Amino acid sequence: MTKPGEFSPDVVELIWIRDGGACVDCGMPQVRERRGEAFGGWSIQHREARGAGGTSKGAVRKNARPWLVLASNGAVMCGTGVTGCHGRAETKDRRRAFDLGFAVRPGVRRPAEMPIRHALHGWVTLTDDGDWEPAEAPEEEAIAA
Ligand SMILES: [Zn+2]
Repeated sequence: MTKPGEFSPDVVELIWIRDGGACVDCGMPQVRERRGEAFGGWSIQHREARGAGGTSKGAVRKNARPWLVLASNGAVMCGTGVTGCHGRAETKDRRRAFDLGFAVRPGVRRPAEMPIRHALHGWVTLTDDGDWEPAEAPEEEAIAA
């Protein structure tokens, strides 16, 4: 069973194909079977974090944000939440991750509406169903450079 907030195997497949089996940040090709390996492996970045937002008590109402598990919210990144580009986006350089669309602040715009600088496709928006569309680079790009 897929845990709440986790991408289902079908959605993982959509994301993997859309991203060409490569890290969306550095473009490094990944090996399909090595998902979850900290070094030499890959994982799926949640652009809008599962734990973000929610109620005053910090709990997120179940299914309150159904888009969290759609393809628009996931991106293939090398490493894990603490290694590789995924680790950089999650912890080491959060500001850059927001500027480049690898991370999306909750409550402003949905992940599907926030452009991402994709190693394979350039500046795009990611659709909920696993496709992508060309997008304008946001003004913030200059800050990230
Ligand atoms: Zn990478």
